[in-house]
Amino acid sequence: MPLLVMKFGGTSVADLARIKNAAQKVKREVERGYDVIVIVSAMSGKTNELVGWVEQTSPLFDAREYDAVVSSGENVTAGLMALTLQEMDVPARSWQGWQVPINTTSAHSAARFVSIPRDNIDAKFAEGMKVAVIAGFQGVSPEGRITTLGRGGSDTTAVAFAAAFGAERCDIYTDVDGVYTTDPRISSKARKLDKIAYEEMLELASLGAKVLQTRSVELAMRFNVRLRVLSSFEETDETSGTLVCGEEEIMESKVVSGVAYSRDEAKITLVTVEDRPGIAAAIFGPLSEAGVNVDMIVQNISEKDYENHPGAVTDMTFSCPINQVARAKKAMEDARTAGLINYDDLAVDTEVAKVSVVGIGMRSHAGVAATMFKALSAENVNIKVISTSEIKISVLIDRKYMELAVQALHDAFELEKSA
Ligand code: ADP
Ligand code: ASP
Ligand code: MG
Repeated sequence: MPLLVMKFGGTSVADLARIKNAAQKVKREVERGYDVIVIVSAMSGKTNELVGWVEQTSPLFDAREYDAVVSSGENVTAGLMALTLQEMDVPARSWQGWQVPINTTSAHSAARFVSIPRDNIDAKFAEGMKVAVIAGFQGVSPEGRITTLGRGGSDTTAVAFAAAFGAERCDIYTDVDGVYTTDPRISSKARKLDKIAYEEMLELASLGAKVLQTRSVELAMRFNVRLRVLSSFEETDETSGTLVCGEEEIMESKVVSGVAYSRDEAKITLVTVEDRPGIAAAIFGPLSEAGVNVDMIVQNISEKDYENHPGAVTDMTFSCPINQVARAKKAMEDARTAGLINYDDLAVDTEVAKVSVVGIGMRSHAGVAATMFKALSAENVNIKVISTSEIKISVLIDRKYMELAVQALHDAFELEKSA
């Protein structure tokens, strides 16, 4: 039997009517001759509510109990989806992560897949079951505890099942009808893409486009899963949505394919640190040990070179997620107390955002940075930090200009027009 994976996000299973709507889409694929693995998220808003309850109960919570609580939203929708399908005469049953079992690492709240044995589910398909409904976002650790995969993790559950079961395709049903040149909520000029390369989607996702969890794109790329994003609220067929696929399948080639943004950034500057060999290691070592995900880094050049002026000083600036600022500050203060580093001041700016342009065309085109900086300067947006890689350029700017910057860059690279 050919097999499809269909994943429904939070808004697509937000209430019983929407679960029914999703179940109808599943039934249609069964009628077309597919066995289906359905992955469900929690009802929209549920996971946030559960996280809130954990934080109110225990600010420095035990991560194992956090996972026990926040994974529960998916258990409800998995059972309801199986029941809804049964009511439509589609043979279906649900599985929680531990029942499959979806084996993960024990990194609670950020667990990674280790293995997904097929036996239990294959046995049920062999008995005539048509749909296996799997609670997304969760798994079980080697210690037998419930784990979760990080926010947005049901996308990754879907891709992992598509890879493990050799699915023909992995369809991600959501509240937009595909991947756009930028978040359609930010720019009305955003244009839906028919196809996007894995590498571009990977950059867009990791730079903030939450339409797919970054890890799901990584897995799809590694296992060559045909990944499609489409709307659960519209009539859809084989050609709907956006296909995330290999570069060689893409005809359209613009230099820049998309603009991503991330609101949840903070910038930290260590003012007057010594400019000496080993200073970066002395700063970023403790940050890494404290679990701070440092993103962009700038070390200002000091006026005097170290060789001739051993007392030379410089400033070191880095960005990290806003909810890690307290941890970063503590790591730096502890490093100073331990005599590893010294600085005059630690300046925190929590009013920043990151805006990035992404495109595989950048590999072979010069001038993208110049166009980007010109567009931002025309809007009087000051750039605080810049970082680049082969296929992206990111800038850190004042958060109040974020939407303006996204729109200006979308215009500057003419993303509303197809290539
Ligand atoms: P789900 O609950 O189905 O997992 P998400 O909220 O996680 O859905 O992801 C869908 C949202 O991603 C859209 O509503 C949209 O606002 C946002 N988004 C951000 N960037 C993009 C983009 N480039 N293309 C499409 N959607 C995007
Ligand atoms: N419900 C989880 C979350 O909100 C997982 C997901 O929806 O993908 O992050
Ligand atoms: Mg999501």
